[in-house]
Amino acid sequence: MKHIQSKLCPGPSHEGPLTLVVEVTEEAYQRWLAGAYIQDVFPDLSLDDRERFISGYCTPCWDQLFPFPEEDGIPEEEFTDYEG
Ligand SMILES: [Zn+2]
Repeated sequence: MKHIQSKLCPGPSHEGPLTLVVEVTEEAYQRWLAGAYIQDVFPDLSLDDRERFISGYCTPCWDQLFPFPEEDGIPEEEFTDYEG
């Protein structure tokens, strides 16, 4: 098994650690490095945990910045905006 660390959360309202560390198999880790989708290689991660590896945002920051119900999805335009 291997421990991987998520990105640092760049958001404004943390309620916990700025990064997340998860334990994964060596095989899954290699597939992730090779560019596989995170939901395919780490299916046990929750949506919130995956987001920490994709954008870095932790749940409180994500909810504050993007207060949309997840089941409705987030408009594409909003996704391209969050870097700025
Ligand atoms: Zn945060």
